[in-house]
Amino acid sequence: MRVLLVEDDPMIGESLREALRRQGMAADWVRDGRAADAALAGERFDAVLLDLGLPQRSGVQVLQSLRARGDATPVIVLTARDALADKVASLDAGADDYLVKPFELDELLARLRAVGRRHAGRAQTALQVADLQLDPATREVSRGGRPVLLSAREFALLQALMERPGAILSRAQLEDRLYGWGEEVESNAVSVYVHQLRRKLGDDLLHTVRGVGYYVGPRKQA
Ligand code: CA
Repeated sequence: MRVLLVEDDPMIGESLREALRRQGMAADWVRDGRAADAALAGERFDAVLLDLGLPQRSGVQVLQSLRARGDATPVIVLTARDALADKVASLDAGADDYLVKPFELDELLARLRAVGRRHAGRAQTALQVADLQLDPATREVSRGGRPVLLSAREFALLQALMERPGAILSRAQLEDRLYGWGEEVESNAVSVYVHQLRRKLGDDLLHTVRGVGYYVGPRKQA
């Protein structure tokens, strides 16, 4: 999952970015409204965490511009306690949810999963492809009912593929989901993770389309 964090408080921004990265998410951080506009116009994110009081342009203005462009990227607004008018204004401007500061990381992660499910039109929490199951909430993976232990990056890569079974994702698209700005990407990282996943899960569900990318599901006919 690739998340854009828009937050001008350096303490909150830094600690949130690191916490999200530890979950295996690609987390990018901008500190003002204009930088948020530029990031959202230029790249695709799976979710946005948006502070409201920002330099340059307010969070509500950023949100209004995003929705005016027809962009439905899920947005969770970060707001202060007792700021009822802010909550109402941001929900009416197109926010999907809000969180009152200070909040617990576990609640933020649960809300990210929830907006991700709603955005994908999915009610069930776990992803399933054949007998392979991945639960973003518990971070458990099993094949045929047997638990499989994955690293954070292996999990993130498998989740990206299982969210769209049968869809071929390129190496660049997968790198986008795994790494934030400024994080060093080793040139063969994705193929190394795919190799490790096949070793742990078996080689019949995770396929390479040479020169194009990777997909999860029953093998397509050549
Ligand atoms: Ca602020």
